[in-house]
Amino acid sequence: MQDRSTFLNDARKLLGSRGFTSDAELMQPWLTDWRGRYSGAALGLASPANTEAVSAFVKLCNRHAVPIVPQGGNSGMSGGATPDSSGDSVVLSLRRMNAVRDFDVVAKQITCDAGMILQTLHELVGEHALRFPLTLGGKGSATIGGLVSTNAGGTQVLRHGTMRAQVLGLEAVMSDGSIFDSLTPLKKDNRGFDLKQLLIGSEGTLGIVTGATLRLVPQIGDRIVVWAGLSSISAARELLLHCQATASDALEGFEVLPRHCLASVLKHLPDARSPLRNEHEWHALIELVTEPDDDGLRALAETVFADALHQELLDDAVVASNEAQADEFWLLRDSIAPAERALGPAVQHDISVPVAKMPDFIAQTSPQIEERFPGTRAIAFGHLGDGNIHYHVLAPKGVVRTEWENSDGKTISAFVHDRVSEWGGSISAEHGIGQVKRDELGRLGDPVSLALMRRIKVALDPDDQLNPGKLVPLAKGNVSI
Ligand SMILES: Cc1cc2nc3c(=O)[nH]c(=O)nc-3n(C[C@H](O)[C@H](O)[C@H](O)COP(=O)(O)OP(=O)(O)OC[C@H]3O[C@@H](n4cnc5c(N)ncnc54)[C@H](O)[C@@H]3O)c2cc1C
Repeated sequence: MQDRSTFLNDARKLLGSRGFTSDAELMQPWLTDWRGRYSGAALGLASPANTEAVSAFVKLCNRHAVPIVPQGGNSGMSGGATPDSSGDSVVLSLRRMNAVRDFDVVAKQITCDAGMILQTLHELVGEHALRFPLTLGGKGSATIGGLVSTNAGGTQVLRHGTMRAQVLGLEAVMSDGSIFDSLTPLKKDNRGFDLKQLLIGSEGTLGIVTGATLRLVPQIGDRIVVWAGLSSISAARELLLHCQATASDALEGFEVLPRHCLASVLKHLPDARSPLRNEHEWHALIELVTEPDDDGLRALAETVFADALHQELLDDAVVASNEAQADEFWLLRDSIAPAERALGPAVQHDISVPVAKMPDFIAQTSPQIEERFPGTRAIAFGHLGDGNIHYHVLAPKGVVRTEWENSDGKTISAFVHDRVSEWGGSISAEHGIGQVKRDELGRLGDPVSLALMRRIKVALDPDDQLNPGKLVPLAKGNVSI
């Protein structure tokens, strides 16, 4: 960067005191990732009020060669929104941009700014008997821009797909400050490459998402939420197959958690209690839903779960008796991430393997890790219906966090990722690559895919200004490929 103080003055002039700060105290909460694994430094925190201001700010950063780290709710799990420790970059927060631009209830589409918080969106469209069919535990802070940029998943992917399937149109500021406007939600549009899909999941390395048009679905008519106790993860897979065969389209979510996870959640939420009286090795949280005006759900659920009991596919089950209890069941599921975080040092993996192989993968990999690294504990939970689980390995008691993460933690992650690759899976099912899996993607990724991604990065961001060092880092001083 040429002249630090000129840049800071120009940024303040351009965005005003609400739009730009270099105050260390105000920046501090945004310089560490949600898991507390990465901390960085920044020249300033920019919070533009609209797309034009984002564009003007990006042009200013270009003139001063200041790298930009886009940030939404900072709830990401891969360190993608945390700047490096140099203090040379700015964090560009989209949180101030949270307006609804257009809401077409009849067409079931909404266009909003990138900083809109997921939970706010749920509440807003819910008032019009509609819903946005993607949810996750971080919904109170995750923003639309962050969800788009990580192609987030969550607990309704089974029926509705990931963020990629929800985005009808996109607006983004590119690295030269130009505004890519593709907000028109056309059903059919074959004018060449689908550039919005390139931006979705690019983790802030190709463009800054400023707005999105999203598809909505009708509010559900009824839902049935069931908590089941199971003897093994294989039993969970059998129950999943049964639910898919008998409930088909009504199956909205199928999440699994082992006994250890439920115990840590109950410790974390002192007022919560286990849905089932007896202890079980595994638990499944299952949601069935119907469209409005369809009153056959109760009868369907009775058949699905009576058959499951009859076929001994589950050990015990309880149906939430009302909405409040259904929410309590989901709160247990949504609290796993904070409860596991509170347990202390761990290495986390967000992996997928073909759904049918997941039980064997867990059954074989966990004992191998626990034997090779005494005192560790491998925990698998999450979205079994999508073949995606969060696979955490807890450190032995008494270790020093960073020392362990950088020694045994790294070896364990490499071991897990090697197994995932052998089993034909992905080392990042839904959380993205960010910083945490960048080197592992470089080690295990398909060389042709990596080369193509780097070429795209160079074409769209030739000066490596947008979120440098994340996802597919370019070698310093060698950005032409
Ligand atoms: C309790 C909890 C549970 C979670 N459960 C799930 C889950 O089930 N499934 C799942 O997929 N994720 C989950 N997450 C992770 C997280 O909520 C998602 O990754 C979410 O998409 C991040 O949104 P954010 O706005 O917080 O983005 P941030 O964390 O701020 O940023 C994430 C990445 O996107 C980039 N980015 C952010 N905004 C923009 C923008 N406007 N333009 C360009 N780039 C941008 C950042 O640079 C960074 O690389 C969970 C998080 C928590 C805390």
